[in-house]
Formats: sequence, structure tokens, C-alpha cells
Amino acid sequence: MNIILLGPPGAGKGTQAKFLEDRFRIIQLSTGDMLRAAVASGSALGQQAKAIMNAGKLVSDSLVIQMISERIDQPDCQNGFILDGFPRTVPQAEALDRMLADKGLRLDHVIEMKVDDEALVDRITGRYSCAKCGAGYHDLFQIPKVAGCCDSCGGTAFKRRADDNAETVKTRLAQYHAQTAPILPYYQDRGILKAVDGMAAIDDVTRQLEALLAA
Ligand code: ADP
Ligand code: ADP
Ligand code: ZN
Repeated sequence: MNIILLGPPGAGKGTQAKFLEDRFRIIQLSTGDMLRAAVASGSALGQQAKAIMNAGKLVSDSLVIQMISERIDQPDCQNGFILDGFPRTVPQAEALDRMLADKGLRLDHVIEMKVDDEALVDRITGRYSCAKCGAGYHDLFQIPKVAGCCDSCGGTAFKRRADDNAETVKTRLAQYHAQTAPILPYYQDRGILKAVDGMAAIDDVTRQLEALLAA
């Protein structure tokens, strides 16, 4: 099963992708995570992407298209994948269609996670993750069971993203509405677009997704 989780920054795509990975034995492919890994490694690609990401702008279509195309060919994607953060522009969506056709693959579901802009600012500014295993948390909405200790791996070091500040969030939301939201009619016209209420609590959103994907 190959799916796209579509939604603005902070909508809960990464959080839900983790559940879907286990539940449906498919792999999360996050272009944001891939780009942050490139930045951390100091590669030429990372150096190119760093300033753009910190400004809340989008990196070039060709760069992410190539990244995803190579990643989908890896053996761990054989059972299916969850695209998280890709496609983000109409040219990316068109390139994805061509790429999947070339590889003999298809999209099963495109799911929009609907969340109000005001809620997104709170979600993004409160977001942090485990430095060791990457598990996601939130200052108010997703607190570790034991304070200061990661539920998944027991790690005690946490980190925040350089672009998760109130200033950059505004640019990222503007980019979403201008560049990414136009993808929605693209998939609507193909009859594969579905939506969940992303304003609901985390486990409620998981139940909505399970119901939709198991159907
Ligand atoms: P995205 O991948 O779409 O940018 P995340 O999954 O990282 O979003 O979620 C952003 C932040 O909001 C995280 O700190 C996460 O813990 C929190 N969060 C995710 N889903 C919900 C929800 N349904 N209600 C409240 N907080 C949420
Ligand atoms: P969020 O879900 O919170 O918006 P991501 O982790 O998906 O964050 O993306 C972080 C940043 O990485 C984006 O603001 C953008 O600079 C870059 N990026 C990620 N995916 C793409 C993409 N498909 N196209 C262009 N830029 C991307
Ligand atoms: Zn951890």
C-alpha cells in the first residue's frame, strides 16, 4: 500500500506515519527528515538546503524528486510507503505520477490532514524529539510518561528543530497555502483524495486513519 499524508506543517503527519508504519508494515518517507540528515552530515546537498529550510522556504523540486525516486527503489519500500512532506508542489505531484508509472507502482490513498492555522503555530512551537531515536513529543500535547525520559528508547537528551520558531512558521504556512494546497484539487480530480479531522486528539486521528485505510 502506497499512500500520501498531505497537510500543513505541524498537522501531525510524522506522528501518524509512525503508527501507520507498525500497523500496516509500510515505510515512512519524510523528505524533511532526509534533508535534515543531509544538513547534519554537512554534505554538499545539506549545505545547499540548510539556509532555505531555516528561512521556511521550499528546496528545489528537482532535488527532492531525485531523493524520493532513489529512496523508493530501496528494498525496504517493497511492501509500500507513506510519503510525508512530499509532494509539496504541483510539479512534484506530476513528477511523482511519472516516477511511479515508470516503476510500475501506484498510489492507493492521498489523505489530507485538516488542521486550523492557529492550532499549527502552537503545535510547531511546542514540538521536540528524542535526540537518540527521533520519537516525537510536544510540550503540552504529547508528554513523555516519565518526565525527561523518552518512552521509546529511554534516552534523556531531546532536540528542537532550527525552523520550529514562531517567525519561520509564518513563512512555512504561507508556502503551504500558496504552493502545496493546490495539490489537493490535483488528487481530488483523480478521485483518490480523502480527509481526516486533524484537530482531534492524536489517538482519535489514528483511529480515523485506520478506519480509512482498512476499508
Ligand atoms: P508534521 O509532521 O505534520 O509537521 P508532527 O507529527 O511533527 O507534524 O506534529 C507536530 C507537533 O504536534 C508534535 O509535537 C506532535 O507531538 C503534536 N501533535 C501531533 N498530532 C497532534 C494532535 N492530533 N493533537 C495535538 N498535538 C499533536
Ligand atoms: P513540516 O512538516 O513541519 O513542514 P518538514 O520536515 O516536512 O516539515 O520540512 C521541513 C523543511 O524541509 C521545509 O520547510 C522545506 O524547507 C524542506 N522540505 C521538506 N520537504 C520538501 C519538499 N517536498 N519540497 C521542498 N522542500 C521540502
Ligand atoms: Zn528515544
